[in-house]
Amino acid sequence: MSALRSLLAQRSIDPRTLSDREVHEELEPLDVGRASRTVTAPQRRAVVVRDRHCRFPGCDRPPGWGDVHHIVHWLDQGRTDLDNLILLCRRHHTLVHEGGSGLSGTARRPVSARGDGSGRIS
Ligand SMILES: [Zn+2]
Ligand SMILES: [Zn+2]
Repeated sequence: MSALRSLLAQRSIDPRTLSDREVHEELEPLDVGRASRTVTAPQRRAVVVRDRHCRFPGCDRPPGWGDVHHIVHWLDQGRTDLDNLILLCRRHHTLVHEGGSGLSGTARRPVSARGDGSGRIS
């Protein structure tokens, strides 16, 4: 139980406010690593709570427009972990994959490959 408690403490979750099912959901699938390419529902929720809007530099579209993106692509050995997941709106998600405007860095500090930091395209 102590490992569980320290995990909860790291994530600032008060275990008393969670049901058993929620504890399971909050802890188990948040870092899936290489086990699955698919972002789990709890991961998506966690990314939305953390990011709140598209994280492409200069964009603030709300999560309703968004997808969860692997910063290091799955095909490049990226992991399905929160540190490698970021919320992007549809437009920027498409841009990152198909428009040659890749993102690098970390979930906390994403960097646009375009280098101007604006993330704007015409
Ligand atoms: Zn993506
Ligand atoms: Zn965007």
